[in-house]
Amino acid sequence: MSGYRGRFAPSPTGPLHIGSLVGALASYLDARAHGGVWLVRIEDIDGPRTVAGADRAILATLESFGMRPDEPPVWQSTRTADYERALEQLEGGALVYPCGCTRKEIADSLAHAHARHTTLAYPGTCRQGLGGKPARAWRLRVPDGDAAIVSFEDRWQGRQTQNLATEVGDFVLKRADGQWAYQLAVVVDDADAGITHVVRGADLIDSTARQIYLQRCLAVPTPAYLHVPVVLDAHGEKLSKQTGATALDASRPLPALLACARHLGLPLASSDTAYPSLETFYADATAAWARRFAPHAR
Ligand code: GLU
Repeated sequence: MSGYRGRFAPSPTGPLHIGSLVGALASYLDARAHGGVWLVRIEDIDGPRTVAGADRAILATLESFGMRPDEPPVWQSTRTADYERALEQLEGGALVYPCGCTRKEIADSLAHAHARHTTLAYPGTCRQGLGGKPARAWRLRVPDGDAAIVSFEDRWQGRQTQNLATEVGDFVLKRADGQWAYQLAVVVDDADAGITHVVRGADLIDSTARQIYLQRCLAVPTPAYLHVPVVLDAHGEKLSKQTGATALDASRPLPALLACARHLGLPLASSDTAYPSLETFYADATAAWARRFAPHAR
């Protein structure tokens, strides 16, 4: 084993579709190309969006598409004590503060700021205290000046830079409805699972600087990142269940896998008759991925 640990982290908001399969396949191929371990984490902390049974359906589909995790899947809903501990650690370092702003108050102050052509980031209203308002959410204090600039080298998209102070502002780690925010959960889970490489859809690239900053605050390592282009629908929107993506046909995995490989720009045979088995597809696809993204891995 190479020390590489990767993961696919679906939110169980519905069955897998071709858009989410692209993320699964890319992360799986990257792990295989590096001779590494591939894990699955069910991101079911967003209670209201979670659909009962979708987790089992996703795991069954991955299995019938020939992608088997190397360790048992993890459910985020079982890990809230770890998120609580991380928040306490940040609180101990005075890196977080409770926020009492309602959505309307934030929208009003942003509208005001926008009118002055300044930023759309949370204006830090509660940094100095709640001013008598009840605490609703917990926010991470982002630094000012150059310390707010986070850069990373994305293995697909190249160099990325974000100024957390002007483009994001102090961001939420625990929401007003008591739910853990994606940013905190993903950082704690990736760190605890020893993830070395994150491969996921480019719709999440905008979150990566926040996650890297949070890793620094928690003193955990930063993985390598690769964000694959997302599949778009006819209107140029990210394909999702909401925009009409249909569930995958588990009885015919190869046509969907070939469509994903094409989307990822892998030069494979275009007809599924070229692949007598899923294993022959994965062997070719892994070799093609490795040539591009892991030329020195083995
Ligand atoms: N659960 C997220 C999603 O399905 C992915 C999180 C991640 O890969 O970091 O969009």
